[in-house]
Amino acid sequence: MHDTHTLRELDHAHYLHPFTDHKALGEKGVRVMVRGEGIYLWDSEGNKVLDGMSGLWCVAIGYGRPTMTKAISEQIDTLPFYNSFFNTTTVPAINLAHRLSQLAPPGFQHVFFTGSGSEANDTNVRMVRRYWDLLGYPDRHVIISRNNAYHGSTMAGASLGGMSGMHEQGGLPIPGIVHIGQPNYCESGVGMTRDEFGVKAASWLEEKILDVGADKVAAFIAEPVQGAGGVVIPPDTYWPEIRRICDKYGILLIADEVITGFGRLGRWFASEPYKPDLITFAKGVTSGYIPLGGVLVSDRVADVLIRQGGEFNHGFTYSGHPVACAAALENLRIIESENLVGRVAGETGAYLKQQFTALADHPLVGVAETCGFVAGLNLVKRKAENVHYQVAFDPALAVGMVCRAHMFNNGVIMRAVGDRMIIAPPLVMTHAQIDEMAGLIRHALDLTLAEVKQRGWL
Ligand code: PMP
Repeated sequence: MHDTHTLRELDHAHYLHPFTDHKALGEKGVRVMVRGEGIYLWDSEGNKVLDGMSGLWCVAIGYGRPTMTKAISEQIDTLPFYNSFFNTTTVPAINLAHRLSQLAPPGFQHVFFTGSGSEANDTNVRMVRRYWDLLGYPDRHVIISRNNAYHGSTMAGASLGGMSGMHEQGGLPIPGIVHIGQPNYCESGVGMTRDEFGVKAASWLEEKILDVGADKVAAFIAEPVQGAGGVVIPPDTYWPEIRRICDKYGILLIADEVITGFGRLGRWFASEPYKPDLITFAKGVTSGYIPLGGVLVSDRVADVLIRQGGEFNHGFTYSGHPVACAAALENLRIIESENLVGRVAGETGAYLKQQFTALADHPLVGVAETCGFVAGLNLVKRKAENVHYQVAFDPALAVGMVCRAHMFNNGVIMRAVGDRMIIAPPLVMTHAQIDEMAGLIRHALDLTLAEVKQRGWL
């Protein structure tokens, strides 16, 4: 058994956690996770929770898969590490590059490996700028991103992002990064149909391009569905318009698929229909078992980098780490052999949609929507048929955080982005587990409603 008290004391004394309000942790301290199996986790006090967030959008195949353990330990026995710098590399790195080129949309033959999603987006920034330099346009360095996006925590990643002012802290953003609005229909689509709003939100890109000067813009980066920003599902008209605008001005389109890649939206890569030029991946490539990220590079970009450039002076010690690549190969084999992508696109995804959207009948829930295996619901003070007439809670009350605590204590992990509650569960969930999750969420919503009433917030 674990001594939770001592663990919390040690944690408090020594561990600076990412994205954590240490003052708010207070007396209670952290929750220490000790074991995972399937879609469930256990903490150091023996509590069991259903992991509605797949670790952190990672664990597609669930926890504790024996063949992952085998693949990882065999690679550690054979060759735990060698680098891919200069003229060397390893067998798993080559095999994974080949496998990814098969899974990627047509026209993607190359991959650049990194250790994380943040490093992959830094790579994107350097790669698109190098692309334009090589073509003789050294002024074409501006990258357009979106408000409330999350693209990582490195200097470039945080500059590209737009959440909670993160891209402005510590002297950021780095030069040459600008933002446009996000395609959030509930927030900004008043008086428009979803489709009208999709076109409108895409037009913000064109406005920004003209504002900056088309001859200065290198690329536009965006997630197919914004994840950490609150599972923002764009209208169907949005992406085709974005591609059209990028084509009109010759701008590269970067799809950040760190969350959406490897099946979460029911395709290996959600961005495939709108033909991006670069695709960022991480998390789901290994289901989080070992860190790995990278960029899938289209022939358009690779042709310039390789044939005109030759070398690209960029890379990380752990680019193409053999153990991470071995883990990825086994993870991708499992995703394929269990038809997880097909399940999300088919009956299981439809069942999740049915069970999750049914939560919209709860008195606290304004909108409940899914897209593949990501979903979000809005907690509202007063419901209305038209989403634009619903009344939100005062953000200062942090109702989302109250709800998140009830979820956790009631046995299901959900994330709160303001008053939007989100999930991204493991892709292996069965129908019975979807029922179980929906039941846990509903019960925690009831507990939240009771607390909200008791505090006089309604
Ligand atoms: N891009 C997106 C869309 C992400 O969600 C994340 C991580 N949440 C990142 C990039 C950064 O990945 P990492 O934390 O592996 O650096």
